[in-house]
Amino acid sequence: MLPLHDSSHRRLNVLTGEWVLISPHRAQRPWQGQVERAQEQREPAYDPSCYLCPGNTRARGERNPSYSSTFVFDNDYPALHPEPVEAAMAESPLIVAQGERGICRVGCFSPRHNLTLAGMELGEIVAVIEMWRQQFADLGERDFINYVQIFENRGTMMGASNSHPHCQLWGSYSIPNEPAKEQTSQRDYMESYQRCLLCEYIRLERSYGDRVIFQNESFLVVVPFWAVWPFETLILPFQHTADLSGITGAQSDQLAEVLQKLSACYDRLFNTPFPYSMGFHQQPTDGEAHPEWHLHAHFFPPLLRSAGIRKFMVGFELLGTPQRDITPEAAAERLRELCA
Ligand SMILES: [Zn+2]
Ligand SMILES: [Zn+2]
Ligand SMILES: [Zn+2]
Repeated sequence: MLPLHDSSHRRLNVLTGEWVLISPHRAQRPWQGQVERAQEQREPAYDPSCYLCPGNTRARGERNPSYSSTFVFDNDYPALHPEPVEAAMAESPLIVAQGERGICRVGCFSPRHNLTLAGMELGEIVAVIEMWRQQFADLGERDFINYVQIFENRGTMMGASNSHPHCQLWGSYSIPNEPAKEQTSQRDYMESYQRCLLCEYIRLERSYGDRVIFQNESFLVVVPFWAVWPFETLILPFQHTADLSGITGAQSDQLAEVLQKLSACYDRLFNTPFPYSMGFHQQPTDGEAHPEWHLHAHFFPPLLRSAGIRKFMVGFELLGTPQRDITPEAAAERLRELCA
């Protein structure tokens, strides 16, 4: 048996088909990071200079309504435009490009500038989930949108330019790289074993238990076996469903509970508003049947040892394979204690 807790090894990310290098012995090397005090940064409930707050004017002159729950608008500087574009350019098999269309929207979680998922009431998070469901349906039904990516960047470390809690909703013609890899893996697994990859993975993680952070009636939260980021997590619905439209009202309440609890645990980990990128992976909206797809959410937080010490993807990771020192099991243990 490979001693996963104390010898270098590679683990396979079965969703993407990529490997991660794990070097547990390096976690015991002398402490090199600095311990810093988390800086207390209080945000106001309303910021007159914020382009997401109710009633404020955005960069291109549009004025936000005095919204009282969630609020969605088309991004003023979108990465994709809905107008048709030239299909492809292939002057040589080595110089290849494709036109890309889409719609990019921004979704505010609440009118309150300083209200994060961890601090929201469950009913308020349910409203955010409802916004995600509606946006997935609205964007996905357009014939030129084959994939809808919902994501949140939190914290300046993750490039969030505005601290007002919000997400982005990008509908694109092409299926983006990460869900495309996951689709291939899920499809291959279903063809080989006649069952769903993630349904089976959930069963295994529940039986092992050492990477489980917590669960409720409908969802499991784990540090995945193949996690690259130190405190990366995966939220998995027990029920096999391909996208958020398959979530019932009761499951929506359960998902709200999971999001609130996990965000609060993260904030407690280094006593700081925890930065992360999170998002849902769902079936494409390409009109085809996708029995292989199992809805899930990823949290990718960059912090490693304290509020100021983050993991960088550099050197061997950029040129070779992503690597981590603390094992996913040790990270899960730490998060489990904080969530208890
Ligand atoms: Zn604001
Ligand atoms: Zn499944
Ligand atoms: Zn995924």
